[in-house]
Amino acid sequence: MIFAQRALLPQGWAENVRITVADGHISAISVGAKAQAGDVLVSALLPALANLHSHAFQRAMAGMTEHRIAGRDSFWTWRDLMYRFLDRLTPEQMQAIAALVFMEMQEAGYASVGEFHYVHHQPGGAVYADIAELSGRIFAAADLTGIGLTHLPVLYSYGGAGEQPLAAGQLRFGNDVDRFARLVEAARALARALPSDTRVGIAPHSLRATNPGDLLRALPIAAGNPVHIHVAEQPKEVADISAWLGARPVEWLLANTPIGADWCAIHATHMTEDETVRLAQSGAVAGLCPITEANLGDGPFNGPGWLAAGGAFGIGSDSNVRISLTEELRTLEYSQRLRDIARNVMVVGEGSVGQAIYLGAAKGGAQALGRKSGAIALGMLADVVAIDLSHPSLCALRNDQILDGLAFAASDAVITDLWSAGRHQVRGGRHIQRDQIIAGWRVTVQGLVDAL
Ligand SMILES: [Zn+2]
Repeated sequence: MIFAQRALLPQGWAENVRITVADGHISAISVGAKAQAGDVLVSALLPALANLHSHAFQRAMAGMTEHRIAGRDSFWTWRDLMYRFLDRLTPEQMQAIAALVFMEMQEAGYASVGEFHYVHHQPGGAVYADIAELSGRIFAAADLTGIGLTHLPVLYSYGGAGEQPLAAGQLRFGNDVDRFARLVEAARALARALPSDTRVGIAPHSLRATNPGDLLRALPIAAGNPVHIHVAEQPKEVADISAWLGARPVEWLLANTPIGADWCAIHATHMTEDETVRLAQSGAVAGLCPITEANLGDGPFNGPGWLAAGGAFGIGSDSNVRISLTEELRTLEYSQRLRDIARNVMVVGEGSVGQAIYLGAAKGGAQALGRKSGAIALGMLADVVAIDLSHPSLCALRNDQILDGLAFAASDAVITDLWSAGRHQVRGGRHIQRDQIIAGWRVTVQGLVDAL
């Protein structure tokens, strides 16, 4: 049981709240309660967010691609290093990296992750003896860390818009629709050994990595689970798709697919006003990755237009160059302020920006992962995070300012405890498997770097 001096319930902050967890779900909530022997005592309890977009293996490249080379385009150093990593990355290394990433996410306050998983095969493209070998490695990392997992195997068939063949570094991603269906089926079989909150959806990588016929043929493989797709991340992608299909990527998806509430449009950065309104009204979640989008120079999302149209959104750490929930939240808002030369942008009407982005991302992230969470309420998964209100960055704040303090003034150091579907994985700010995971990571990343 969890006893919180304060807890943020759907109706607002409440004091002395005792939460009972059964079978991963919140089975009782008592307000004005007394702590009982054996309770985990925390300062303040919040619904924990889902991290809706991650490519775990890219964490191993963080800090290695931030130098400029004369005469090369800005994307070159990043892509070149990623492909050199992919020439060497082993299943064991994939698992160790994912374990570190999932641990860091939980220590940052994320209870679950949507792992957009696109490395499936051996270097050169040969299929592993078990077609879902690398999905299995992601599952093993999720199992070790206890994070809630929505696994999203990626359909990646082409190297660029207009059915270009896969280039060398992309051969590890490649499947046609039939082999992709077998891969997802094998991943679902493996997932049955994991906790019952595990989901397996699908992720057509992007329009440029598939084609219209294949995309429509792949959609039924989702079988009611989430569908994620990268879309409109960079202006060049929009131009390439327009030239090929005669429509901008979001425009094409709206006209040709059943895009709706079970879809997550990752990035959705470069949309017209009309696309913004219509995609928002479709019910699809915008999967925003503010730190990565800033790192890759993608540009800012149209937050005001999206919110005005009632759009749902969530937060993802994508390239995992930096895993920090507080920083992700403030980067989202600051990207809007810098563009608009304005303050307090990501809120409709009046109110707390921290609350609007935190609770908005809690709700949208849960929707995107097909996860019954995002609020501390009866019957929801016990995805909850505790923060320390005595921390110097929060101690002076009123209840209605706490989420502003979290989003704009605090670091992840204020996080003390985290539960993923009732699994108490972070205690006193540290993941319970931290030493083992860090040791595995050190060996792995050094081995990768030595081989480059
Ligand atoms: Zn991505």
